[in-house]
Amino acid sequence: MNKSSINSIYITLAKKIGEPKTELNYHNPYTFLVSVVLSAQATDKSVNNATRDLFKSVKTPKNMVALGERKLKGYIKTIGLYNSKAKNIINLSKILINDYKSKIPTEFKNLTNLPGVGNKTASVYQNEILNIPRIAVDTHVFRVSNRIGLAKTKTADQTQAVLEQITPKKWLKTAHHLLILHGRYTCKSQKPMCDQCMIIEHCLHFKNEKNKKNFSS
Ligand code: SF4
Repeated sequence: MNKSSINSIYITLAKKIGEPKTELNYHNPYTFLVSVVLSAQATDKSVNNATRDLFKSVKTPKNMVALGERKLKGYIKTIGLYNSKAKNIINLSKILINDYKSKIPTEFKNLTNLPGVGNKTASVYQNEILNIPRIAVDTHVFRVSNRIGLAKTKTADQTQAVLEQITPKKWLKTAHHLLILHGRYTCKSQKPMCDQCMIIEHCLHFKNEKNKKNFSS
């Protein structure tokens, strides 16, 4: 895809979506990191429902360790994979207390060394909290990017590398949100709403589907 089309996609999505923000609720960098860890394979809405009460009393790694794994599970049991997520959150909180004076490390490698923090979580954290332009790739970003033709990749990490290379500098900070929201509300997994899509003219998937129909008729 050429530069002009890539730019046009982001301009169009930004016009429709406005100033995109994370849909996760949080109080500080630590509670944001916990929310992102919880959001793996779960909706932001389900995470916000669970953290609404949790974050009333837990705002720091020390609060979390004092709460303990069993009680944490009670707060997050409506979220998928809550057993392993609770274990990871308690362990990462202990590491933050012992190794980082209860602060969150800023280096990507140090972030991804924390339990439950992979490339996507670390990228989301760096983008939102540290203002480092990273394009974290979740299921929506992966699907949309490969459908439209922004990327042609097999894994999320490959998609991130391509997107961070081809995305114009001015869109690097917001691209992740724009693509997520487009995937969540328009370019849906099972039934993309192509008839309402504002970037249809740039979409490789739509062009291919149209060609298939023309060919078979
Ligand atoms: S035209 Fe359809 S498949 Fe392409 S980006 Fe829009 S909604 Fe997704």
